[in-house]
Amino acid sequence: MSHLPQPRDELGLREGYHSAQVDVEVRLNTNESPFPPPAEWRKALLAEIAVMDLHRYPDRGATALREALARWHGVRPDQVFCANGSNEVIQCLCLAYGGAGRRAATFEPTYALHSHIAHLTGTGVVAADRRDDFSLDLNLVADLLAREQPAITFLCSPNNPTGGAEDAPTVMRVLEETSGLVVVDEAYGQFADWSALDLVDDDRPLVVTRTYSKTWSLAALRLGYLIGPAPVVTVLERVALPYHLDAIQQAAGRLALDHVEDMERRVATIVAERRRLSTALDRPDVTVWPSQANFVLFRPERRKGSEVWQGLVDRSVLVRDTSSWPGLEGCLRVTVGTAGENDRFLAALDEVLA
Ligand code: PMP
Repeated sequence: MSHLPQPRDELGLREGYHSAQVDVEVRLNTNESPFPPPAEWRKALLAEIAVMDLHRYPDRGATALREALARWHGVRPDQVFCANGSNEVIQCLCLAYGGAGRRAATFEPTYALHSHIAHLTGTGVVAADRRDDFSLDLNLVADLLAREQPAITFLCSPNNPTGGAEDAPTVMRVLEETSGLVVVDEAYGQFADWSALDLVDDDRPLVVTRTYSKTWSLAALRLGYLIGPAPVVTVLERVALPYHLDAIQQAAGRLALDHVEDMERRVATIVAERRRLSTALDRPDVTVWPSQANFVLFRPERRKGSEVWQGLVDRSVLVRDTSSWPGLEGCLRVTVGTAGENDRFLAALDEVLA
């Protein structure tokens, strides 16, 4: 019998969020960029690190980084909040606006960390299902929001793992139906045709989260941010730990913005490859859903999803096995890789499905 203390009851035995890490040649399971960041950026970062005052605490307000992001997005620096990945942005949102006695709304299936982080912060989670095609049923959305009065409503556009994006009328309708905060998670926003960023206004309870982990090819950096009303940013700064962003992260994120064209080229390549993957997956024995992100959700119709996943692993190709997730029975999610990686995936899938 262990005498170690027990954690908070409401944590339950919830498992963390993990993707199986298998040693393979082609890794298409965690929606990272298949391309490294530009060499020029690396050089500039190393030069800054060489003269950095590492014995001093970093700039607590991440001033230069926020100014650079504000300039790029055409907003004010006091409308930008940065954190360790957009996951920490979401955690700060839940700490500030969720908590005991409050609820967060999600529309399932969606990014599992929205409900997971809400749970961890003691926020109740209320959910409605998406339609069979994974779009939002706005009547169901309105019912949920009226019934539960959530403090936070999570939209995910494009939605992970289903790939579809929302549009302006949908986000405006959700804003009309709730007096709480609406969070549009745009981790994949730059791969999509539309962004909610244009709707951000100091008088509107809307925030948009973004990350350096996908389009900027900087998942290892752990840097994400939010654009939203200045008063919301002030609140988030109060719940974030002091000096939560280190000096190297801040410099790295700021310097990345000197290479916007390079980033846009990478995004265009991935979008073109996504079209090619989606077209190739459009075959009689596979259902594929339209994607505006850097991944594609598909379902083999004549074989079990988990068997197909294993068959791909046996051919050294790793995709995300979502086949046992509620609402995603039999489905797999493949991240768009380089042309060569996508060829490997398609050839392996051909063999497995033959
Ligand atoms: N939001 C969504 C929808 C995601 O898919 C991810 C990454 N899996 C994140 C947020 C978190 O990204 P990060 O913490 O790396 O910024």
